[in-house]
Amino acid sequence: MTELLNGKQIALDIKKEICEEIEKIKHKKKRLPHLGIILSGNNVESIIYVNRKIKECNNIGISCSLVELPKHSSEKTILQEIHKMNNHPLIDGFIIQLPIEPHINVDNLILSINPEKDVDGFHPANFGKMALNMNTFFPATAYGIIKLLQKYKIKISGKHTVVIGRSRIVGLPISILMSRKHFLGNSTVTLTHTYTNNLYVYTKQADIIIVAVGIPGFLTGNMIKKGAILIDVGINKINKEMKTMLKGDIDFDSVFGKASYITPVPGGIGPMTIMMLIKNTIKAAYKRLSSN
Ligand code: NAD
Repeated sequence: MTELLNGKQIALDIKKEICEEIEKIKHKKKRLPHLGIILSGNNVESIIYVNRKIKECNNIGISCSLVELPKHSSEKTILQEIHKMNNHPLIDGFIIQLPIEPHINVDNLILSINPEKDVDGFHPANFGKMALNMNTFFPATAYGIIKLLQKYKIKISGKHTVVIGRSRIVGLPISILMSRKHFLGNSTVTLTHTYTNNLYVYTKQADIIIVAVGIPGFLTGNMIKKGAILIDVGINKINKEMKTMLKGDIDFDSVFGKASYITPVPGGIGPMTIMMLIKNTIKAAYKRLSSN
């Protein structure tokens, strides 16, 4: 039997905890945490993601500022906005919505973010801290995966995890988190990617498989062992019968019944990601308050 890992419900439970925390802050008449977002260009999906983040901030009651820059904005213009957010006294943490247009060097943007405000956890200072098992901001999707497994009391320690995809947003950070020396880690991790030969040899042996490739239905039932735990990060838009629908990177029908757990798409990792970003923003706010 395959059980669904209901990220939507767990995200709602976490949201409730966050709302209680915000109430306490309000009660103490302290300033509310404040998230900044820089959105450059008019990528339709980015606009949808940003709107969802703003909506959740509003629902929860944390402040949110959006800076929208037009398509073809220069790197210099975006860097100026980053500089403003770095120095803005009320903004606790901020993100640059990715992907960004190809004429922009993403590394230059990430390197210019103040690591103390880097609530996406992409700055090398924070990424390095994560790799060294120090306290820092974890990239939200990877953090969401770990939290979801924890909430379902799924043991990670000692398990063999295969991660498919090595992006800096998902694959790489989750491979680090799963392998670090921590009770929510201690897994033996195989990080696979486009240059991996005979991928199924690894996936067939895996206790946990995390798929983040951006190819609908990529992982199929014949690539997994019975009882595998499957985490589907993919969000792919497909057109079927004149309708647009979302499909994950796992071929749900062929793994269902063989896997022990699977995250659905939608309603799995997506809702967890936003909650973890908000958690990181609150953490940044507490950190700033305690250092002032
Ligand atoms: P990406 O394009 O940056 O990286 C894809 C990775 O997959 C690469 O490292 C590549 O090496 C690997 N890959 C591609 N083809 C492969 C193959 N045939 N075999 C093995 N590896 C292969 O993508 P990303 O930003 O990591 O996103 C992946 C998916 O996750 C997308 O569908 C994206 O929309 C989704 N996503 C979801 C969330 C969420 O909150 N649920 C967050 C971020 C990304």
